[in-house]
Amino acid sequence: MKATKKKTKKETETLSNKKPETLIDKKGIRIDGRKLDELRPVKMEVGVLPNADGSAYLEQGRNKVLVGVYGPKEAHPRHIAQQDRAVIQCRYHMAPFSVDERKSPAPSRRDVELSKVIREALEPAVFLEYFPKTSIQVYIEILQADGGTRCAGITTAALALADAGIPMRDLVVACAAGKADGKIVVDLMDTEDKVGDADVPVAYMPNLNAVTLLQMDGNLSTDEFAKAINMAIDGCKQLYAQQKEALKSKYVVEEVEEE
Ligand code: ADP
Repeated sequence: MKATKKKTKKETETLSNKKPETLIDKKGIRIDGRKLDELRPVKMEVGVLPNADGSAYLEQGRNKVLVGVYGPKEAHPRHIAQQDRAVIQCRYHMAPFSVDERKSPAPSRRDVELSKVIREALEPAVFLEYFPKTSIQVYIEILQADGGTRCAGITTAALALADAGIPMRDLVVACAAGKADGKIVVDLMDTEDKVGDADVPVAYMPNLNAVTLLQMDGNLSTDEFAKAINMAIDGCKQLYAQQKEALKSKYVVEEVEEE
């Protein structure tokens, strides 16, 4: 058996969510070894669930997110149907084992709120008017959480919608920036989010250059806010390149094989 690598003091503090003395060291390096403008390592894959119409899986640092999409299909219950467009039904759910302390499997108020804001972040991208009286169902399961899960959920859900073949104006990709130890940083992990001063999640349609979600938790000056948004959008652009790769690695390869 492989010997387990002994964790450094810094890693232990990060994993146990104990408040670290500093979030950024003198060299400008964050507690997980990243630079201020560096994203966490990301892995994306589409078409991971054969039983769903579309699906995607994402790992971003220690976050693990799985999304399954169904539809468009006749809306149920009937009263939710809209005569002129499809509705998106979105459920963001944190698994009981996704956080340190077992979370109740029942939807929390936070799950309900995030389901709404994620739905609103996705709606502008989908040609809902093509499918009147139908619903598109988006199920987001957070398997493991380490900060920024609403953004990771949006990035993954957009991939799953594309994988389901649902016509979209653009992909949606999301990334947060915020303030930790007085510095503006991108893609905050849980400890930075909790101990830091501010968090600004941004969802973005990269080809239309349009923001579909903008929230802020904490306090920032006007200049810091502008810097955080620009940094978050830069992060979105990097994640978008990986979204395209994930889609290409399923669809482009298959097309070539068929020829
Ligand atoms: P986001 O995940 O989008 O940053 P929040 O700011 O609400 O959303 O949450 C930050 C982080 O707090 C989550 O990603 C997760 O790691 C952690 N968290 C959320 N809910 C719980 C919970 N019930 N127990 C422990 N940690 C939680």
